[in-house]
Amino acid sequence: MFFSGSARLSKKLPVLGDLPRRLDELLRDVGGGDVLDVDDLARSLGASSELLGRVLAEAAGAEIDLLRAERYVVCPRCQMLNPAHEREAAVAAGEEYRCSDCDLDLAATVVQEVTRHRLSESALTEAEERRAAERARPKRTAVVITALPVEFSAVLGHLSDAREQKHDAGTIYNVGAFRGETTDWTIAVAVIGAGNPGAAAEAERAIATFTPDIALFVGVAGGIKDVTIGDVVAANEVYLYHAGKAADDFIARFAGDKGSYELVQRATQEAISASWRERAGDSAAESKAVVAPIAAGEQVVVSIKSDTYELIRSRYDRAVAVEMEGSGFLRAAWANQDVRALVVRGISDLLEGKDAADAGGSQETAAMHASAFAFEVLAKL
Ligand SMILES: [Zn+2]
Repeated sequence: MFFSGSARLSKKLPVLGDLPRRLDELLRDVGGGDVLDVDDLARSLGASSELLGRVLAEAAGAEIDLLRAERYVVCPRCQMLNPAHEREAAVAAGEEYRCSDCDLDLAATVVQEVTRHRLSESALTEAEERRAAERARPKRTAVVITALPVEFSAVLGHLSDAREQKHDAGTIYNVGAFRGETTDWTIAVAVIGAGNPGAAAEAERAIATFTPDIALFVGVAGGIKDVTIGDVVAANEVYLYHAGKAADDFIARFAGDKGSYELVQRATQEAISASWRERAGDSAAESKAVVAPIAAGEQVVVSIKSDTYELIRSRYDRAVAVEMEGSGFLRAAWANQDVRALVVRGISDLLEGKDAADAGGSQETAAMHASAFAFEVLAKL
């Protein structure tokens, strides 16, 4: 809760259920000079005015110290509230006491007295300190590139206040906010279709448009070894498996594109921790995350009897998964030295039986897990 007084109220009167929490949310937007209207608050909270009157009176007690109670007299002519103690002092001194709005002499008038509430001094101080701390949080930007709609949707689920932003050349980004542990992120997400060249071009465009600190590729991949469906692979390295020399026997000539050191380090810690699984939900209970190399090429690999599979296994034995964009993406990020980049993939199939796995919803699950892991990494940066 925003106000510690709300927490004290909740603790003292558990019978109120979530009323203190909802009241706390309403009070957040209240200024120091604002007098609370019990009927308005009751309506907003779906509670009776009588109950809310009792809650406010309790919240004004010294123990809770969330509100302060003030007595007013109601001007019978214009309904203006005037401080009761001022009228009392005037009456005691035998002086006039004019309504601050209509000038009626309230000292010579029969008036009704009411109690109204404002935020207490300590609550106002607390609110100001919190707002200052909020303003002081670092603001950073990340771009997230995805290839498939299912990946895009999974990423979008982590953003708040997402809205479309269209690039002059046509790329449509969804730009939203994500609250990290210490950093407020602005995040631009694009869905760009499959393939390394497209990923490189779109990553370059996104980086030029948003000048991000971080670029992530989040998506699904086929598992080659040591992983199963639902697992997450954060790539410390991506091998463009077709690159090489076409001699009698193919000679692989490609040093892998590396994920940025800081992000690989962060991913390594998050792979050990279980917190990404909490972010992913129940389906990730049995899933693991690993930091390992990935192979990337222009083919959808659906058989372990294929030449491509054979090539990857024989030349890039350390790769645990295969996909189609990671290399192009990292190439583009590499050419932008201020951008740190990482490829995060959820395993959606194990090559054999890919169609059946996809039909069974494994792409959705894998995309959700990869997104949860990626946002866990962002949350900790
Ligand atoms: Zn008046």
